[in-house]
Amino acid sequence: MNLLQVGILLLVALSYTSSKYIDKDNEWEYLVFTQTWSAASCMEFNHEHRSCTLEKDLNKWGIHGIWPNNEDKTGPFFCDHSWKFNESAIADIESELDKRWPNIINDTPHTNFWKHEWEKHGTCAASLETLNSEHKYFSKGIELNKMWDLAKVLEGAGIVPSKETPYDMRNIKKTIEAKSQSASNVGCIKVDGVQMLVQVEICMNKQFETIDCDDSHANKHGKLLWFPNIKVYPCGYDEPTYYVLI
Ligand code: 5GP
Repeated sequence: MNLLQVGILLLVALSYTSSKYIDKDNEWEYLVFTQTWSAASCMEFNHEHRSCTLEKDLNKWGIHGIWPNNEDKTGPFFCDHSWKFNESAIADIESELDKRWPNIINDTPHTNFWKHEWEKHGTCAASLETLNSEHKYFSKGIELNKMWDLAKVLEGAGIVPSKETPYDMRNIKKTIEAKSQSASNVGCIKVDGVQMLVQVEICMNKQFETIDCDDSHANKHGKLLWFPNIKVYPCGYDEPTYYVLI
């Protein structure tokens, strides 16, 4: 085999191994690390007739996902349909995931939420070396959930879950952003007409340094703060906001 043939062979091999990610549709620019206030999320699920049990254990910020995204469009999603969720790949961190990345919908396997997030977002995030396995993706979620301990951040500003006391949304957002040193998306839901804090999105570059991702992203690109069964919108500033306690 001459040098040219070796070169061609190498090129073919290289393009084959990376072919999953050279598809333009699967490219992405930054990551959105999204956490959910499980108590509010649970109330909304019940409102939407999906069963969630209101337990004290839901007074916490659970991980929703790490979502690859683009400036000019959301996603990509489902980048590799052949890369199905495999529970055994995360066996050693499952108990930690149950606490920090809980599936709060009743009567579904506890792995359901992880399966959804891996196949929809994880298979796209996997183009990054630091997230290129299920174990790395879910471990990163745990690491970020510890790093961005929102309960502690808010508590530092006197913002604690409460059944009675509403908070000023500006103060909530200011407190989160003072910590992240970047503009974040803060999402709310309405339950019986009352605004409740439910979601915080912190955006990061591929080195996991925070970057701005404020409400203008959600408005400009439409879908960041919306998903089918829970209706999340950029929190309004002019109404009292509940950080609900169960
Ligand atoms: P996304 O598709 O944007 O990553 O996430 C939205 C989906 O997550 C929605 O279908 C919503 O129902 C689902 N979701 C949010 N919280 C939970 C949960 O605790 N368990 C499960 N199984 N799905 C959840």
